[in-house]
Amino acid sequence: MQPLIDNARTFGQRPEEFAKLAEGQSPQVLFITCSDSRVVPALITGARPGQLFELRTAGNIVPPFASEHPTSEAATIEYAVEVLGVRDIVVCGHSHCGAVGALVRGDDLTAVPAVRDWLAHATPRPAGAVEDPAVTQGVQSHVLTQLLRLRSYPYIEKKLKERQLSLHAWFYEVHTGAVQAHDPQTDAFKAL
Ligand SMILES: [Zn+2]
Repeated sequence: MQPLIDNARTFGQRPEEFAKLAEGQSPQVLFITCSDSRVVPALITGARPGQLFELRTAGNIVPPFASEHPTSEAATIEYAVEVLGVRDIVVCGHSHCGAVGALVRGDDLTAVPAVRDWLAHATPRPAGAVEDPAVTQGVQSHVLTQLLRLRSYPYIEKKLKERQLSLHAWFYEVHTGAVQAHDPQTDAFKAL
């Protein structure tokens, strides 16, 4: 913890670079990814403050649309699309994902009941090779499921039809830094 505190203590010594951020934000991208510490969206994309609106959940899960039962995730997505007017939404899964791996393998999550219940109710079990430690196939199919979830949000479907919004499925390898994107033409993940 101490190195993080030390860095935070000196971080504020660049006010001129950040002063204009007080005027507001107009990010072009909503970046939805896992809470995993190995995934650092600003590092992967080179984004500067103000460029990425982020939603991070265990397993980068987009919950089903249910306006009568609002969730934190739905509120974040709604704000990004309807208020900030982001033009792109990236759902970025990652290799060696603990949450998706647990789903694929059907792990016993009794010791972490909140995780168990969140995963059980929030998303279907992805198909994938149980023995693959990187969970590549499972994560990639899981990411595509989340894209379908986004499409079930009426205001997102509307903006997609009006070509005001684009959706992107990414897969990030934590051990190489490589990023793949889903190509709808071939239904395969390819290097960016
Ligand atoms: Zn993860």
